[in-house]
Amino acid sequence: MTTYDGVVIGAGHNGLTLAAYLARAGLKIAVVERNPRIGGGTSTDEPTLPGYRFNLHSNFFMGFRHSPLLRDLELHRYGFSYIEPLVQQGAAFRDGTCVVIHKDLDKTCASLARFSRRDADTFRELHYLYSVGMRPLFTSLGFNAPLPIDQLKDRLSGSQAKEFLSHAQHDLFSVVRKHFDDDRIRTLFTSYMHVITTESVPGSGIVFPLIFANVMEFTLPVGGAQTFPLALQRLLEAHGGAVVTDADVQEIVVKNGRASAVRLANGETIEGTRFVASAIDAPTTMRIAGEELFPEEVRQKLNGWHWGNHSLVTLHLALKEAPVYRCQDFDPDIAQAYNMFFGMDDIHQVESCFEDCAQQKFPAVLMGNGACNSAVDPTYAPAGGHSAFWWPFAPYAINGDATEWDRNKAHYTERVLSVWREYAANLGDDNVRAKFLFTPLDVERLNRNMVKGAVRMGAYVPSQLGINRPHPLLSGTRTPIEGLYLCGSSTGNGGGINGQPGYIAANTIADDLKLDRPWTRVPPPEWRQVAIARLTRCQRVSSAASRPARPRPRGAAGRAVPPRRRARSRTRAAAAQTPRSPHDVHSRVSRVRPQPHRAPAVARRRRPRWWRCALAR
Ligand SMILES: Cc1cc2nc3c(=O)[nH]c(=O)nc-3n(C[C@H](O)[C@H](O)[C@H](O)COP(=O)(O)OP(=O)(O)OC[C@H]3O[C@@H](n4cnc5c(N)ncnc54)[C@H](O)[C@@H]3O)c2cc1C
Repeated sequence: MTTYDGVVIGAGHNGLTLAAYLARAGLKIAVVERNPRIGGGTSTDEPTLPGYRFNLHSNFFMGFRHSPLLRDLELHRYGFSYIEPLVQQGAAFRDGTCVVIHKDLDKTCASLARFSRRDADTFRELHYLYSVGMRPLFTSLGFNAPLPIDQLKDRLSGSQAKEFLSHAQHDLFSVVRKHFDDDRIRTLFTSYMHVITTESVPGSGIVFPLIFANVMEFTLPVGGAQTFPLALQRLLEAHGGAVVTDADVQEIVVKNGRASAVRLANGETIEGTRFVASAIDAPTTMRIAGEELFPEEVRQKLNGWHWGNHSLVTLHLALKEAPVYRCQDFDPDIAQAYNMFFGMDDIHQVESCFEDCAQQKFPAVLMGNGACNSAVDPTYAPAGGHSAFWWPFAPYAINGDATEWDRNKAHYTERVLSVWREYAANLGDDNVRAKFLFTPLDVERLNRNMVKGAVRMGAYVPSQLGINRPHPLLSGTRTPIEGLYLCGSSTGNGGGINGQPGYIAANTIADDLKLDRPWTRVPPPEWRQVAIARLTRCQRVSSAASRPARPRPRGAAGRAVPPRRRARSRTRAAAAQTPRSPHDVHSRVSRVRPQPHRAPAVARRRRPRWWRCALAR
């Protein structure tokens, strides 16, 4: 028997995150992984031709630069880096039009304004509110154990918090309708909302602000998604820990009510003297620890865990040239877009795709997103080649049978490719060097905890979100078994590449074991005041391209108020609303309140002293 301070089951990014944090806190940790390679949902492979690299699961790391992991774990020192492309997203439509979302807000609004000026203004307003103003709140919501709804409401007050919570009344379609008017823009954002594979049921609209906050924050890991777990592994090993692969955990050993070890399929036992943590799905964890040790209500819920109605089927292509989209004539910037959406032309088609998935039919409307990673990071393909993928939504089983994917793989490959060809002009046989279809059944085969191809280790529905993930009695990552913790995606705020369950569990264990933390913990969520004045229609700042000619507001005497005076009075009004307590973290937020575009202010800035000296000479 090998002995460590702690044993973590599963070397996906969450298990490794937990291990890395606690190794830095001085514990000796082993991470045990059933596959021959680490990474789980962050794996990179070459399934077509040598040198053409594909991320088989996660590709888009969203909002990553706000993650405490990068700072706390200094992952750049262990080989991890990422690119945040300047053109973030593109949505192509069959009529040759397209929407482009840039890192640059003005350019994004100009693209949206071609369809609806009002939607462009709304986008700008939501961007300031969610991506900038509420970002600290969202970070603390993500990196702290979910709170019961009444406690959460106590911590959030003011009109913006109310507006944020009001999204809980919506499903995914109605939440997008609430904000946007134009059919194509609605179509784009409804598909975008599904990208994190949320189910459209009443209540799921609550994810809108959190997802919207990242719409301009998509990143690509340099060299492949696998560089992320590899960096965590290096950090762990540098701190005396170990990763054991080909180690299938069959049992969590519980002695005298305390989790003390894991037993592998080969009979070996690895002991964790201080804790055992599970980064695999909660239902399996319960079963291998002993169902009888969990309360009846937890057993019932986990045995009926909803894995989700849709998964993804990915077509990976090894190409000579990157795909060229027909809608480039409408907006040439789409040629640089990182995350490309297509397949759906209106909201009804989006609806029909998810209905087909729920009924286990191969969707009549194939729609989804994809990317040509080698166009962003050349390490994804050899010189003179490109690697591109598209992952439309699809059910796990077709007509109730998941093995249908294996039986008719060639047929489904052609069906996916034929839709892609409708949008990309150059995907003829002469450009395609090799194809590889990765089906929902393959998702489960490669990653056993993605049961039924469950992209998030459990559907995002209100009964499985927040405090309910996986159950209020387990949501803080502790379990009824002493020394056993959950840290996988079916826990806490898990699902997607964010490391949140791993981070939360690391903090819980550090509390329980009274460890010194060599990191600063993300503060608990709090939103106490109106920190950002919600822009009214007349305060909205439109890009030069999209700004409608507006009459100037009139002062008391009916004279036009000069723009500088208007800006000053707005600043004063906002300052009057904003308490300045140094103890209130969110008073800082007020300083990022959106200001009208004042390009000349840069020119007016005082020159540095050396500059003036240089002039005098
Ligand atoms: C096709 C697809 C595309 C996706 N795209 C994105 C994306 O673009 N962006 C994004 O953020 N997310 C995406 N996701 C979701 C993301 O991949 C997952 O949410 C994430 O990888 C889960 O991480 P994890 O560490 O919690 O679990 P995992 O990565 O699943 O790790 C769990 C590990 O435990 C191992 N394991 C299981 N059982 C045992 C056992 N009994 N003993 C030992 N080890 C075991 C598994 O082999 C695995 O390595 C995608 C998922 C899929 C399927």
